[in-house]
Amino acid sequence: MNLIERDKNVTWHPYTQMKTSLPPMAIERGDGAYLYDVHGSKYIDAISSWWTNIHGHCHPYIAEKVAEQIKKLDHVLFAGFTHEPAVALAEGLLRHLPNNQKRIFYSDNGSTAVEVALKMAFQYWHNKGQKRTKVIAFENAYHGDTFGAMSVSGRSLFTKPFDDLLFEVIFIPVPNDNKLAFEKLQKVIKSHKEEISAFIFEPLVQGTAGMVMYEAEQLNELLDVCKNENILTIADEVMTGFGRTGKFFACDYLSPELFPDIICLSKGITGGVMALGATSCTNDIYEAFLSNDKTKTLFHGHSYTANPIACAAAVASLDLMEKPETWENIHRIHKRHLEFQSSIKNKKGIKDCRVKGTILAVEIETETAGYLNPLRDRLYQFFIDKKIFLRPLGNIVYVMPPYCISNEDLASIYEVITEAIDSELDN
Ligand code: PMP
Repeated sequence: MNLIERDKNVTWHPYTQMKTSLPPMAIERGDGAYLYDVHGSKYIDAISSWWTNIHGHCHPYIAEKVAEQIKKLDHVLFAGFTHEPAVALAEGLLRHLPNNQKRIFYSDNGSTAVEVALKMAFQYWHNKGQKRTKVIAFENAYHGDTFGAMSVSGRSLFTKPFDDLLFEVIFIPVPNDNKLAFEKLQKVIKSHKEEISAFIFEPLVQGTAGMVMYEAEQLNELLDVCKNENILTIADEVMTGFGRTGKFFACDYLSPELFPDIICLSKGITGGVMALGATSCTNDIYEAFLSNDKTKTLFHGHSYTANPIACAAAVASLDLMEKPETWENIHRIHKRHLEFQSSIKNKKGIKDCRVKGTILAVEIETETAGYLNPLRDRLYQFFIDKKIFLRPLGNIVYVMPPYCISNEDLASIYEVITEAIDSELDN
């Protein structure tokens, strides 16, 4: 039996209708911006393997650091124990995070980083003797697939079977030029003032919603209201962190006095090499858990919390983030995206084309929008046939490449996107 047949017998893939989906692609190896299938065909990973792989696949420096670590210490529990990679990573992250962030709590992925953030926020108020159980989030937000993370995500196709089981969240629109979000936030606060624990948001780019972009100035306005009303703010930087939006963190675009209280990290944190989540917070949050009363402890942890190999990969990835070449690449990609954007913005068949840092999104005209849009499957296959991995979100094609991608490969991606739009117009 070949790999695909064996896979079919025993596995269940994420976000995949196992009855009707095409068989998975069997990938054998990765190198830089490329993935190679078992037949030796080469593909451009234009979406950095679900937005994780920022420095390219199998980066020799990260591989070397992981190999060194695995020979020294594979794992030790993080309750009552510590180790060099966990401490070095926390120090490194705090060096780059907004300067009000003072503590790092580790977990395993983006969803758990969000769970930890929510539990920190709820228990912060609980420890202070206040019952605040409501959360404000953006419409169409996506914060992960565990129950807390699903609760603060927009109600959608993804959450439908579970909607009755999710806790109550108050949704406000993403801010844009009109003042709708601002007004709704003020209204919500007026009627629920003492019940709201936190406001959670994806800063500047809502990823899964379809790379919906908005400006820092508008987020500043909302954060200002929250600050004045004593509502904690949680930035979910799971996708936007580590250079994606053109700065180290999307929160770096905000006014410093409005930096969030809690920040969630994952994906790019290890350069896409190991599963790792991290939640950072201010001293004020941290100190609300310090007590001689043990019931005020944050009773949360995972078996693999602060796994030394994952932390070593993340320290190595951070070393690469500190290199000028990485930033030259980030700015180069941004510039190329902008050039492409201006070349196609008036093209027939395109509804919108937007860019933030290394993220490019092209929204294609279609009669029916949404994740299950049949256009999505046609485009996905079209790109695979052209040896490029792009996973459109419904009618939105986005590019989020590893920073090492060459200009030639970026040009091929743009060309294939243009061809795809033309071929849809011909249909
Ligand atoms: N938050 C955001 C903003 C995300 O984009 C994602 C994943 N796409 C998550 C949280 C969940 O991360 P994970 O898939 O690692 O659980």
